Amino acid sequence: MRVIVDLEKCCGAGQCVLLAPKVFDQRDDGIVILLDEHPPEAVREAACVCPGAAIKLEDLA
Ligand code: SF4
Repeated sequence: MRVIVDLEKCCGAGQCVLLAPKVFDQRDDGIVILLDEHPPEAVREAACVCPGAAIKLEDLA
C-alpha cells in the first residue's frame, strides 16, 4: 500500500495523526507531513475520516 497526501486539500484537522502517529505528523501550521509512504499498519481509517479527503491509498498489486 502506498499513501499519498494532497497538501492543498489538507485542512489541518489532525485526525490522521491521532489515528496513525507513525505515519502522519503535522507542520507548525497544521498541514500534514507524511512520515511513511509505505506503512506496515493499516491507515484506511485515517483516509476515511480525513475531512479534507486529502489522504489517498494506492494498493500495489
Ligand atoms: S486528517 Fe486530513 S485534513 Fe486532517 S491533518 Fe490529516 S490529512 Fe490533513
